Amino acid sequence: MSENEYDIVIVGSGCAGPAAAKKAAELGLKVLLLEKSQKPGEKNVSGTCLNMAALVDPDLQYLMKGPIEREIYEMHSYMITPERTTMFRETPSEGIILLSIRRDVFDAWHTDMAKKAGAEVKLSTTVIDIIEENGKIKGVVTDSGDKYYGKMVIDAAGVNSIVGRKAGLIPKRKGQNMILYTILNVHLGEKLVDERFGNSIYYFLSPNAMHKTWAWAFPKREVVTFGTGGYMDDELFKDGITSVNDYMQNLIDLPVIKEKIEGGKIASWGLHLEFDEAIERRTRDGLILTGEAGGFVIPFLGEGMPEAFFTGIYAAESAKKAIDANDFSAEKLEEHFMERYQENIFLQGFRYVADLNKKSILTKTDEEIAEIMQNVCIGGGFISNAIHTLWMKGAEEDNMDFVQEAKDFYEFIQPYRQVGSETIEIYKKMRAQK
Ligand SMILES: Cc1cc2nc3c(=O)[nH]c(=O)nc-3n(C[C@H](O)[C@H](O)[C@H](O)COP(=O)(O)OP(=O)(O)OC[C@H]3O[C@@H](n4cnc5c(N)ncnc54)[C@H](O)[C@@H]3O)c2cc1C
Repeated sequence: MSENEYDIVIVGSGCAGPAAAKKAAELGLKVLLLEKSQKPGEKNVSGTCLNMAALVDPDLQYLMKGPIEREIYEMHSYMITPERTTMFRETPSEGIILLSIRRDVFDAWHTDMAKKAGAEVKLSTTVIDIIEENGKIKGVVTDSGDKYYGKMVIDAAGVNSIVGRKAGLIPKRKGQNMILYTILNVHLGEKLVDERFGNSIYYFLSPNAMHKTWAWAFPKREVVTFGTGGYMDDELFKDGITSVNDYMQNLIDLPVIKEKIEGGKIASWGLHLEFDEAIERRTRDGLILTGEAGGFVIPFLGEGMPEAFFTGIYAAESAKKAIDANDFSAEKLEEHFMERYQENIFLQGFRYVADLNKKSILTKTDEEIAEIMQNVCIGGGFISNAIHTLWMKGAEEDNMDFVQEAKDFYEFIQPYRQVGSETIEIYKKMRAQK
């Protein structure tokens, strides 16, 4: 193989990219990982909490060894009614629910893991085009005009991936099924974050502080990240709201938040668009789309990192199989990739819950959504809502099929729901191996 020829060329070193590169290198392949930033994660404001229910999967346990900002044990949800009554609910858990991270630190560590496994990494390298021959994707072209060839290309370039678009797999966005988020980082210092936020995450529902979604606060070591925004429909801007920044301003003006951030400094304030559109095909001959590039994200539940890690790993495995069999056809790649994807209870459970909740929540008022949120713990409230919605539909329409579907789903996700109490033990073991 010549210098610019590889088994696999991977584009993007966010979540999916390093996971794919590490796995592929461990499988003995010659891997190139390309990332446009100078330091992986430096521009990534999104993705702040890792879900422990996903991390206990043996494929992802190594991520517990990474740089963690805070272990999250509890969830607090606040519902503020139009009359400004505050209802508060505390949901402790048996184990760690989430691990909060900083993407600039975590992505850099993860990229280093891929490097240690044997992948070659090139930073400050932006991919601008793909190389195609007789319908097969053969490599990529970078902004400096360099060409890199791979038996396989893995696209892990996230929401704005150029690779997927150039390959004709990511359609032109239609301006619907999107959530526009605004993110605010407030620097308070470790002591104040400890005192005021501790090891909990916070959800808030309040009039004019979000639209068809919910606002949250995720504490890091010294900084607290706030997020809110709105589902992009005709009602996103009304009642004096002219931009999603108004939602954020109204959120941090709530007395319950104002007192918590007093004395803090705004470190950054930014916007982020998330697409909630299924992508029809994720493979072409010689190419697999992973993570957000492949539509593996659930903006509705603020979840996308586990999807990206898992699909990155599955793509690397599919690429290895393709190389061994010398068969790079889209069908073959899809076969193994989807087999692994479909047997993953966490991914399937989350997807099912998200789809049903989305349909149900979009028809509800903000007050009704708030009621659902009152029950949310590790997806528990969403799961109950999904099951309840199906059950009620079955009763209303006198159709037992919906009731059966609710029951089947409930049984399917049992292993995932039982995992909670083991997390601490696995986490301690992994941290000890760091
Ligand atoms: C506000 C917000 C909060 C979120 N919070 C959470 C959360 O708490 N938990 C969770 O699980 N998920 C969360 N998500 C979702 C999560 O951030 C994403 O789903 C996840 O980052 C997707 O990973 P990825 O690897 O596909 O893409 P990314 O993480 O976006 O990585 C893509 C990488 O590719 C690089 N790149 C892009 N184009 C090129 C190019 N042309 N050439 C070279 N490199 C390129 C980028 O620089 C980047 O490093 C959140 C999302 C938003 C918007």
